[in-house]
Formats: sequence, structure tokens, C-alpha cells
Amino acid sequence: MSQILDPEEIQAQGGSFVLPFLHVPPDNLFALRAERLESLAAGNPMADYLRLIASLCRVQQSLLDQPPQDWTPDNQRLDLCRQHGLPPLAADSLVREVHWQVYLQALLQRCQPANDKVGQALDRLRDADEGQLKVWAISLLGGQYAGLPAALVPFLGAALQAAWSQWLLTLPTDNLKPCDSLNQCPACGSPAMAGVIRHRGKYTGLRYLVCSLCACEWHVVRVKCVYCEQSKGLKYVSLDDDRVAADKAPLRAEVCPGCNSYLKHIYLENDAQAEALSADLSSLMLDMRLDLDGVQRIAPNLMLAPGAA
Ligand code: FE
Ligand code: FE
Repeated sequence: MSQILDPEEIQAQGGSFVLPFLHVPPDNLFALRAERLESLAAGNPMADYLRLIASLCRVQQSLLDQPPQDWTPDNQRLDLCRQHGLPPLAADSLVREVHWQVYLQALLQRCQPANDKVGQALDRLRDADEGQLKVWAISLLGGQYAGLPAALVPFLGAALQAAWSQWLLTLPTDNLKPCDSLNQCPACGSPAMAGVIRHRGKYTGLRYLVCSLCACEWHVVRVKCVYCEQSKGLKYVSLDDDRVAADKAPLRAEVCPGCNSYLKHIYLENDAQAEALSADLSSLMLDMRLDLDGVQRIAPNLMLAPGAA
């Protein structure tokens, strides 16, 4: 049985350990995603797509292992962000600069097109000038999917993720503060892609949200809508599977009747190998079902244009 304790409750019980507000991803994050996607592809109706994303994750991992440039945010920028209460890797300003585009160009060099469609998408990105790439990236990070061709989303998203995760891994994260919205990453200000319910030791039952861009994880109390902050009437919906009881499903959507939206969560207690991005992409049937029920998805996944699957 999960133990659900909020930081306030832990303190009230005289707990002496300091709950980490943040979890920074491991430096093999993208390799883990690739492995997981490859294993989830077997038997999945979207197997080809999951394998394509797995191959992109391998390229992302190569960008982390051998970064195409050594630019990282300098202390002056970090101080300025701190003074103004902004996330130090603020996506809405950094996306307007050129640094991330070096990651895109390296990704385009390292990608092997799996088929003609992929080749065409890669060529289109290669042919685009700096200004066009910036416009597309601003649209993607702003959730304005009509502002860029759907076929480009996974490749552009992969380059952006690799750049921001690389910068996150070099950032001192000990003094990052929560943003105004529960749904906003304290490192880069992007929205959460999914939630993770942890299962080990003192952190058992605690919820962390996973950033859609930099993969940073931040703590948010459970049983509270991350969008409207209501707790009333939340429902948990999982994919029907006769082999697993509903309250043991490793992936469940927290559906809020207050703002009529949902966020998917993975429960590590029920699947210790689960990983947020791969779990999200391999459970699009759940999104389709919730869409039919008229519940809206707010969480972005930068590897997928909504409706393109
Ligand atoms: Fe982030
Ligand atoms: Fe809500």
C-alpha cells in the first residue's frame, strides 16, 4: 500500500530529512528511453513509430555524450534569472537565441533516415534558415502545433530536448524554486509531460512531475489537479487490461472535473522500469479514449504532434 505523505506532513511528523524538491535526470536518460521504447514497441499498434522515436533517442543520447558545443548559461545570466524569479533555462527566451540550433544541426548530421518520409522531414529541416527554425521551435514550445509541419515535430522536439537536458545537467540546481504554476518546470518553465509516483524508501508515494523539455522532475503534492489546483472529484482512469486491477495499473490518468483536463502518471510501485516519455507514447489509446469522453489533454510530448499519430 502506498504511503502518501506531503512535505508538510513529513515535517509535522517530526521527520528530519529534507525532501528533495528536484530530481535531475540521469546522464543516460535518452538511452533509457530508447531501451524502454524498443521493448514497448513489441505488440504495440504503433510499433513502427515507437521504434523511430527510439532511434531518435539514441541520437539524443549521442548529443549528451558528445555535445556539439560547450556553451552553457553563464553566471551572469543565472544571477539575472534568480533576481527576477525566472527559471534559469527559461525556454521562451533561450529558444530565441541560436545555441539550441547547434544541437539541431548535429542531430540532422547524426540521424539516419529510416524511410522516405523521415528523409523528407530531415531535408526540410536542413534546408530551413535560422529564422524559420526559430519560428517553428517557438510554435512547438508554445504548444501552437498549427505553426509548424507535423512531420517535423519529433526531430525538432528531439533537438530541443537534447539541448535543454544537456544544459540542465551542467546547472547548479540546489537553489531552484517552484514557479507560480504547479505545472511549470522550475528549471526551464516548460509544462509537465507526465507525473511519476515514486516507490523507493522515504520517497514512496511522492509525486514528481516530469518536464516535457529538459526532463527535470519537481515535487508536487498528490491528489491535486496540477492545472487548476482543485482536489475535488479527481478520477483515475487507466487502459482496460484484464490482467491488472485498476488500482494496480502502472499508468493512470488523473482526470479533473473542475477544469476538464488530465495528466498521465506512472506508478513505479507497479512497474519499476517505467519511464515517463516512453510510457506516454505507448499509451496513446488512453488519450484517444479520454478525447472521446471530451476531456482535454494539456500536457505536451515534444515527440508527437497531437492528432498526427
Ligand atoms: Fe524543464
Ligand atoms: Fe483541474
